[in-house]
Amino acid sequence: MAVRSPNVFAGSHLDRAAPLRRDSAALARALADPASRIIPVHQGRSVVRFEGKKASAVALSGEQVAATSWLPEDVDAVPLLGLADGIAHFALDLSHLEEDEVRRLAPGDFVELRTIGAVLDREEAALLAYARGLLHWHSRHGFCGVCGGETVSRQGGHVRHCPHCGADHFPRTDPAVIMLVTDGDRCLLGHQNAWPEKMYSTLAGFVEPGESLEEAVAREVREEAGIEVDAVDYHSSQPWPFPASIMLGFVARARTTEIHRHDEELADARWFRRAELADSSTCPVRLSNPASIARRLIEDWIAES
Ligand SMILES: [Zn+2]
Repeated sequence: MAVRSPNVFAGSHLDRAAPLRRDSAALARALADPASRIIPVHQGRSVVRFEGKKASAVALSGEQVAATSWLPEDVDAVPLLGLADGIAHFALDLSHLEEDEVRRLAPGDFVELRTIGAVLDREEAALLAYARGLLHWHSRHGFCGVCGGETVSRQGGHVRHCPHCGADHFPRTDPAVIMLVTDGDRCLLGHQNAWPEKMYSTLAGFVEPGESLEEAVAREVREEAGIEVDAVDYHSSQPWPFPASIMLGFVARARTTEIHRHDEELADARWFRRAELADSSTCPVRLSNPASIARRLIEDWIAES
């Protein structure tokens, strides 16, 4: 199968520069370099500037950050994202500062990244997602899962080391499967209680330990809609650091078609014909966020006709 164009939040050309992570002296020089870009995240929110319908990322310069009183002394506490055109990019969690203080440093709007992916440039969407995901992991792994001791950031922020028991902890990404279930010219979409009215999307769920991706797809469809599937084909994937997932997209062929909902989260599930979803003026429901892989799965399937 040909490689599909990347989903939103993927497709960055950033060089992750893994060897640089181990070179503390080079990291310190890069962090102090006025040309470096430091991506701030404040309490899970990204900082962007809107111009018309587009948004762009707001970054701090190495110079700006060096002039502050709160920059961590340990260079590994400011995760290195990588190099873009030779310019170092870092992520910096400013959650300890008041919003006004962050705003003075980085004038812009504080946003939930997942809601604005479609209006950002691809590179910037991916960069902000990476920064958000890595900083979220740091924020939840201050203590060792083995011995409970306090951990420290190492290797440019890509390891948390426990000096008490010696364990190293690595950034986590939780795999979730998301699937468009099809039956000829129909596809299955569901509506969750927590979603806006009339919003329908693909089914999805987390992969459990000891389970293949194909098994996770079949189980989720069975659990949520009572449908059995007999062919599961990989489509594409999407980083979804909200807070820590990667969405693995599949198209699954239904072997049974009678819906039996078992999942309490799912308020409704229905079959929709391709033609009724294809025309936005007559589409009976709202489809999900245009930046989501769910939407991409639906639109690619519509486009197959
Ligand atoms: Zn430990």
